[in-house]
Amino acid sequence: MALTDNQIERYSRQIIVPGVGGRAQERLLASCVAIVAESAEAAGAVAYLAGAGVGRIVMYPVSDRASYDALVERSRDLNPDVSVSLAGDGISARCNLMLALVGDARTADAAARVARADRCGAAVIARLDTPGRIALLPAPPPCPLCANAELLSPPGERSASCGEIAMVAVAEAFKLLAGFAGQQPAAELLEFNGYVTWARALGRHRASGGGQARCACEASP
Ligand SMILES: [Zn+2]
Repeated sequence: MALTDNQIERYSRQIIVPGVGGRAQERLLASCVAIVAESAEAAGAVAYLAGAGVGRIVMYPVSDRASYDALVERSRDLNPDVSVSLAGDGISARCNLMLALVGDARTADAAARVARADRCGAAVIARLDTPGRIALLPAPPPCPLCANAELLSPPGERSASCGEIAMVAVAEAFKLLAGFAGQQPAAELLEFNGYVTWARALGRHRASGGGQARCACEASP
């Protein structure tokens, strides 16, 4: 799908960023992101990703549906290239990537359900408690369900910097969707304590074989 002149103009500020370019913009427009978050946190992610030209944005409501309906309504005029919608109950959106902003137990639950239903595709999971953690899972395994980190357990109190952590996660989702700089990124966990950030590689919880059940992300399609 080649960019139109209008699209080149609309995304020019982004296209000229080294490592983005026209190809990455085409990938963004053709991509779909599933957002699992409370509506207030989803709103920031939708604004950023719709502005960046992510073609399809599907939200999974984790609390009252009305606030998400309102968000879809508000998003209608953000960008004519972008569709923002709500996932139906139990219906998999088959997106390229799940972005989960985990600030409470019901969001953690919903993210686990989406990961299972979508056979655990690529994911970015931000934990909004302390220490802030962001898991980047570009290609399973490991997926959110089998990574050797507690990604989807109920979080504690939201961190004072949960807004910043969420926005870093949104930017990381953008980079994965765009295929930023053509790199093949590894699965890793970024951790923040307010002063320093460090990263560690993520692997699988269990060694494969040994009679262990395989994770859904390894099942044949
Ligand atoms: Zn898995």
